Amino acid sequence: MKKILFVDHAAVLSGAELVLLDLAIAHAQDSQVLLFEEGPLRQRLQATGVKVVVQQASEQVLGVRAGTGVGAVKAIPALMAMARQILEMGRGFEVIHANSQKAFLAAAIARFWGGPPVIWHLHDILTARHFSRTNRRIAVFLGNAFASRVLVNSQATGAAFVAAGGRESLVKLVYNGVPLHRFEGLEGQAAAIRAELGVGNAPLVGVFSRLSYWKGQHVLLEAMRQVPEVQAIVVGEALFGETEYAERLRAIANQPELAGRVHWLGFRNDIPALMSACDLVLHTSTEPEPFGRVIIEGQLAGRPVIATAAGGAIELIEDGVTGRLVPPEDAAALAQVMGELLKQPDLAQKIANQGKMSAQTHFSLEGMLKAFDQALILD
Ligand code: UDP
Repeated sequence: MKKILFVDHAAVLSGAELVLLDLAIAHAQDSQVLLFEEGPLRQRLQATGVKVVVQQASEQVLGVRAGTGVGAVKAIPALMAMARQILEMGRGFEVIHANSQKAFLAAAIARFWGGPPVIWHLHDILTARHFSRTNRRIAVFLGNAFASRVLVNSQATGAAFVAAGGRESLVKLVYNGVPLHRFEGLEGQAAAIRAELGVGNAPLVGVFSRLSYWKGQHVLLEAMRQVPEVQAIVVGEALFGETEYAERLRAIANQPELAGRVHWLGFRNDIPALMSACDLVLHTSTEPEPFGRVIIEGQLAGRPVIATAAGGAIELIEDGVTGRLVPPEDAAALAQVMGELLKQPDLAQKIANQGKMSAQTHFSLEGMLKAFDQALILD
């Protein structure tokens, strides 16, 4: 196995960091993780025996939002400091795995200074909606110049990188995969969770993403007005400073039509069990989702999944076969499909079974690790 230095600027538990967790655990014997902030990822890594170093980076670089343009120039000295740390710690490793864009920028500079080859694991769709022009240009330029590979989590992510000027020959597809065993033996837990929530026999749906406008929890709340008997669990918290949106959601949910129907569970580590307690698992992103782990997790939990038809989600669901797809930000369409599936439990079950089989076949942890190891073979 290769000696890898995994680097991420963030230590929150969003999808990309959960992928890093699984990769680092699988490579724990020869590898280490370097994080540029403190956070729950550190504890999760350490709890499984992965060696982790945290070098707290300055807010000047951590605080830069992806959509920021030339204003990010102020972050350059802090980025250089990160690059120096990667260069220093990178000695003795065969490859640097940069799991976030900021980590990649710093790793690319370290490579320029003579550091080890850099693999950029791109978990984001590089579009104007999320990334400023300057930001995309710099990332793609450095990608073309200094990345030995760009791992993408879906064809959609790869296509956006190439459309932004990225070299196609660098791109390797490594779909997310999750440990299948986490989704076994859930039967007993669903009833306990429903009892705890006090939802009785009401149809229950769930969303399982950080609270952020583009994750579209507001679309679910809007759709629920049109399916009056439904209750919902909203799982996740605002991870990247989007507390204003979270407050707005709560205000909407307090309106008379929705009051008492929305259960706020915050960030949870028992996603499979929570999904198993739902009649439907929903994915409501308003923008193309780079991959959409919650979609495959819903499938693996044996629940019918309704997702928005954009980005990587289209690669995970065949509409009407392994799940249902609805247009982004279309509460009426979401309400209609929710109603259809809730009224036809046999059809819903059939779709759930087919979704589960598809996810087991295409999105296992073993599959991801195999693709990852192959992508690390540099010619
Ligand atoms: N997740 C979690 N606890 C929560 C909410 C979400 O562990 O309270 C997990 C979820 O199960 C999924 C990941 O966070 O594995 C989110 O990944 P996804 O690709 O759906 O979105 P991202 O965060 O990468 O935008």
